[in-house]
Amino acid sequence: MSPEIDVHTPISARPGSAGPGQGDLDCLVIGAGPAGLTTAVYLGRFHRKVLVADGGPSRASLIPVSHNYPGFPPGISGSELLARLREQAKRYGARIEDGRIESLIKNSTGFIAQINERSVTARRVVLATGIVDTLPHMERPYDAVAQAIIRLCPICDGYEVNGDNVAVYGEAQCAIKHALFLRSFTDRVTVLVNEDVHGCEDAIATARDAGIKIVRDRVKQIEVSNRQVQVATCNGESLCFDVVYPSLGSHVCSDLAMQLGAEANEEGALRVDSHQGTSVSGLYAVGDVVDSLKQISVATGQAAVCATAVHNSLAMRLWNPE
Ligand SMILES: Cc1cc2nc3c(=O)[nH]c(=O)nc-3n(C[C@H](O)[C@H](O)[C@H](O)COP(=O)(O)OP(=O)(O)OC[C@H]3O[C@@H](n4cnc5c(N)ncnc54)[C@H](O)[C@@H]3O)c2cc1C
Repeated sequence: MSPEIDVHTPISARPGSAGPGQGDLDCLVIGAGPAGLTTAVYLGRFHRKVLVADGGPSRASLIPVSHNYPGFPPGISGSELLARLREQAKRYGARIEDGRIESLIKNSTGFIAQINERSVTARRVVLATGIVDTLPHMERPYDAVAQAIIRLCPICDGYEVNGDNVAVYGEAQCAIKHALFLRSFTDRVTVLVNEDVHGCEDAIATARDAGIKIVRDRVKQIEVSNRQVQVATCNGESLCFDVVYPSLGSHVCSDLAMQLGAEANEEGALRVDSHQGTSVSGLYAVGDVVDSLKQISVATGQAAVCATAVHNSLAMRLWNPE
């Protein structure tokens, strides 16, 4: 643990309070997706001074309709959920500012971050920066995601493709894993392999046993036509699917934490303790950027745990009716 910030000492033994010189903010939340905004709701309700840096579209903004987020029986679109969370965070005093955090450094009292060409100081930082999915090379891939023809998360929406003609496109091992998962929603699953399948024979045999078709020929072109996905292979085969799930990986937006030496898995997803603390003292992480299941309910649950830990790690702020 860094000697600079002691987040584990009981409140009674902790020096200082939230006064000047201790950092302008109690907490800087980086990212305004479901994870960051929920963290801000909790911290606002704990009377903490919070700034949320909103660096651009949340992954949730790509969700046409989510049917598995609890409490919304007819489903809710990602943009509607984000709008509600923003309103809720602001209601309790959280500030939300458009702008990316360009750098984050640690000093003796907390952190200094750069946003919109100025510095902000914060005693704690919560990284809620998410991931960016790798999409296939095709025209306007985000339009296809908005139409739910290209889908990115079988855990989220496998139920919505019940019985459909579905393909998974990507590196063999990973694509077959997703295809097997999808097999409980439809008996028409094809794997489009985008690289050499050498060494994948066992996985291919398992897939075939489960009734999954494997297309080894490389994909030349993917396009959307008449609300279906048309796939042309290099050998001239033409295939048509109701839905394609790319399985091409993602970029984990953990760079700010990694630069401070935070521990991560081989993909860059951050490792956290049971309070969502990273291996860097005072730096927490929630949501998709964490090495865990990438779901909104997980992100919001982690946010509740994290915000409570952040609040308890800071010096007590006594209620003052003035
Ligand atoms: C098509 C699709 C459908 C999905 N459907 C579902 C579903 O039905 N149910 C479900 O539970 N999940 C679903 N998901 C997953 C869900 O969207 C994510 O799990 C969720 O958005 C994670 O929230 P987050 O706050 O961790 O990350 P995000 O929502 O991605 O938010 C991260 C934010 O951080 C910002 N950011 C990154 N770097 C910086 C920086 N340096 N400074 C400032 N800001 C920064 C990003 O711009 C982004 O706004 C779906 C995802 C996709 C793509």
